Amino acid sequence: MEFLIDRETLEFKKSIFDFARKYVYPSAEERDLSGTWDPEIWKKMGEIGLTGLSIPEEYGGQGADCFTTSLAHEAFAEGSMDGGVTLALGAHAIIGAMPLVLCGSEFQKKKYLPDLASGKKIAGLGLTEPGSGSDAAGSMQSTAVKKGDRYILNGSKMFITNGPIGDVFVVMAVTDKSKGPMGVSVFIVEKDFKGFSVGKKLNKMGMRTSQTSELIFEDVEIPEENRIEKENSGFARVGRATLEWERTVLVAASIGSMTNMINDAVRYAKERKQFGESIIRFHAIADKIARAKMKLDSARLLIYRAAVRKDKGIPSPVESSIAKVYATEATNEVAYEMGQVFGGYSYIHEYPIERAYRDSRLGTLGGGTSEIMRSIIAANT
Ligand SMILES: Cc1cc2nc3c(=O)[nH]c(=O)nc-3n(C[C@H](O)[C@H](O)[C@H](O)COP(=O)(O)OP(=O)(O)OC[C@H]3O[C@@H](n4cnc5c(N)ncnc54)[C@H](O)[C@@H]3O)c2cc1C
Repeated sequence: MEFLIDRETLEFKKSIFDFARKYVYPSAEERDLSGTWDPEIWKKMGEIGLTGLSIPEEYGGQGADCFTTSLAHEAFAEGSMDGGVTLALGAHAIIGAMPLVLCGSEFQKKKYLPDLASGKKIAGLGLTEPGSGSDAAGSMQSTAVKKGDRYILNGSKMFITNGPIGDVFVVMAVTDKSKGPMGVSVFIVEKDFKGFSVGKKLNKMGMRTSQTSELIFEDVEIPEENRIEKENSGFARVGRATLEWERTVLVAASIGSMTNMINDAVRYAKERKQFGESIIRFHAIADKIARAKMKLDSARLLIYRAAVRKDKGIPSPVESSIAKVYATEATNEVAYEMGQVFGGYSYIHEYPIERAYRDSRLGTLGGGTSEIMRSIIAANT
């Protein structure tokens, strides 16, 4: 894909890969098994500017565009082989911080972005609820009622990445029920606001190195200046502005993961001998590798297309949905097929393919399921 990327950007991408391989990869297996978060790794990510890559320089970030940020997430996922920490980074830097970058007031940007850029504080997004997922806006139960210069927030949010470790959450709540999905507003909620609490940590199948929980709001008082954009503009403005960043940058991690799975499987297939031959000599194995590589390249092109269009200001709801559904489904298929290459060893924790297989399951579920992506594509085609 070098034809799209200049030398300096390629070197930057390689530096992220090297960083992740050196500091994140070595402990990934252990943290995955125990489901733990390592603040030291996060601190290092902050030191090299990863946590604020897409935040403008004037607020302490690097001011990278969507394409460069996607490349960084791809390289981080590939180098770390740690889907969970890559997801935590995406939840912080993209779905957590980008609503402030794209739609926040000057006051909000100055107050929150520098600490998010440095990684001193961790962000997350609270959209999904126990009873509302795909129909996030239509079925939303959390409410924010205006009282003087404050809003009183009540309700809860489900499956929130960085919930147990986050400091600042961008939270959506109904402000005008009569307007249905267009009656939702967005607020910045700090973990220390009275009435805010974190539910128990969820014990997940994959992405176990990221921390996920419910968030609970009981009469949380939010100052009016913490509302992002106008009242009731949650989906029309804030959600729309952030969506294409999410469906490129977060999904770019899947191509890093696929690259690892394929490289590892090729290495193994050359070494592993059965019937007196390296298994890569068997057509059935070579065919899996060829098909996986075709899927990887197709996914990469689709993600890069969506990211470059985003940077050129071309609206791309269909392109980013195609990228998301294709890349995440391809990652699941590649995880299964590369697992077959490893035979029984793919079932054993020490083999990174086992972790990648579990981690890959989230892609077609989180941030809009494959079914929802297909309905967006069909409705706009
Ligand atoms: C590990 C993890 C991390 C997450 N992180 C976050 C986070 O940080 N912040 C956040 O807000 N959310 C987060 N989520 C939530 C995630 O985005 C939702 O799980 C997802 O949007 C799907 O919602 P649901 O699980 O309620 O499924 P549902 O919406 O209940 O869907 C169930 C099934 O019905 C299908 N379906 C629903 N509606 C339709 C339709 N109209 N047409 C066809 N099929 C349909 C779905 O595709 C799916 O197959 C996370 C989830 C997980 C598992």
